Amino acid sequence: MTAPCTLCPALAAHRRCIVQGYGDPQARLLIVGEAPGHLGADRTGVPFTGDRSGRRVQALLMGLGLSEATDPAMNAPRLRGVFLTNVVRCNPPGNRNPTPVEVANCAPYLAAELAAIRPQVVATLGIFAARWAFRALLDRELPAGMRALHGQVWPAGGRTLLTLVHPARASTAQMATAAAQLQMLLAG
Ligand code: SF4
Repeated sequence: MTAPCTLCPALAAHRRCIVQGYGDPQARLLIVGEAPGHLGADRTGVPFTGDRSGRRVQALLMGLGLSEATDPAMNAPRLRGVFLTNVVRCNPPGNRNPTPVEVANCAPYLAAELAAIRPQVVATLGIFAARWAFRALLDRELPAGMRALHGQVWPAGGRTLLTLVHPARASTAQMATAAAQLQMLLAG
């Protein structure tokens, strides 16, 4: 058995579990968040479940027909056409932001998921995921803050990138924009 990853000592000492990506390995849509939340994925082991952000994302997926769940509070929803993951796989102490070193440490896991799933659409939630996507998919730095980037669509070498604010900070109107943009991209 492979030993659990301890590349980020502060996260390895704090996390309850390593939260790997979750969902449909044949997904057209890859959703990338920031890190497992202390009250959510760090507890459930499944990205975007168990806390308010998770419920908002799961409700979004249910509305798009990408989840067979009957309740957005379910901790292990059956997903189809979507795969959920994070820039870092371990919960930072106090839900703090991941450091650049921690993001870099975890980047190979995310790159491996991207290579295995080969999604047509990548949607990022929050600035850390957007920053990763701009570097990994567009080979450039973020051109603006998240408020300006929310709902924007970017051609990304045969894929489409959609940048969204994190559901922990999104308004109801911003969540509606996210749903509309995803619906449009998945219909295309
Ligand atoms: S965040 Fe990623 S690289 Fe860092 S300890 Fe967890 S699994 Fe390893």
